[in-house]
Amino acid sequence: MRLASALTGSVLAGALLLSGTAAIAAPQDLPAVEASELSDASSMLALINPSTKLSPEDYTPKDLVTVSGTSFQLRPEAADAVEELVSDARAAGHSIKVLSAFRSYQRQATLFSQYQSQYGTAYAERISARPGTSEHQLGLAADLGYTNSQAELKEAFGQTPAGKWIAEHAVDYGLIVRYPQGKEEITGYKYEPWHVRYIGEDQAKAMQSSGAQTYEEYFQMLQDASKQAQATPAAEPSTEPADTKPGSEPTTKPEQTEGSGVLREDDLLVLRFLPPYRDWSFGFTQ
Ligand SMILES: [Zn+2]
Repeated sequence: MRLASALTGSVLAGALLLSGTAAIAAPQDLPAVEASELSDASSMLALINPSTKLSPEDYTPKDLVTVSGTSFQLRPEAADAVEELVSDARAAGHSIKVLSAFRSYQRQATLFSQYQSQYGTAYAERISARPGTSEHQLGLAADLGYTNSQAELKEAFGQTPAGKWIAEHAVDYGLIVRYPQGKEEITGYKYEPWHVRYIGEDQAKAMQSSGAQTYEEYFQMLQDASKQAQATPAAEPSTEPADTKPGSEPTTKPEQTEGSGVLREDDLLVLRFLPPYRDWSFGFTQ
């Protein structure tokens, strides 16, 4: 894949190379998003993590619905996705159920202080979100698992047949396993094979083919693509075949937009997640 020599591309590519993946999506391969979709709490794409708080902090989705067969609530799109996934998982022989879904700011505050008094602040922060930083507050995340199993809400769930099924199929329902193994440095959370987050089927599939292994990395790609689109408003729609695979040689050289080669604030966001310096330019000079 031909990558821009721009530092922007290099930093992002470096982040992904470090995570063991060579495939990088070019901005034109990503679904188009409006800038507001990347900033609104009510967007399906909202990014929430320990360093990105919800605004307003006590945000509550207005359209919560009950997830069929449970006492839990999610936003309608996420509820449909989770219902379908659970139903198909059961049909495939895995008797999983929803263990948790929407949690209000207040509920999260109570949970966090319980963990805090039980385990201390440092460990509580690794296993639980502070109020205002939980994806459960978005109404787009659910915890799945067996009830009364030793693997319930444990890393071991990822090694169970159900955990493996979810990891493999979540994307088909527009869901992502939000806290993958070995990515705590980027996501801020330990591996949670039971926690799925809805971002929509197109986006989940695009994320999978982008090579991004965490939503933080994919969100950065979307942000870069959105900024590039804004910087080139007169650009004609691409005439390239839509199925050009990431990693293949583009037949035309992508135009670079202004700002290339300049380290922007967003790049620093990625840098913050990176382990200490390595040679990021290795491996993608062609
Ligand atoms: Zn969760």
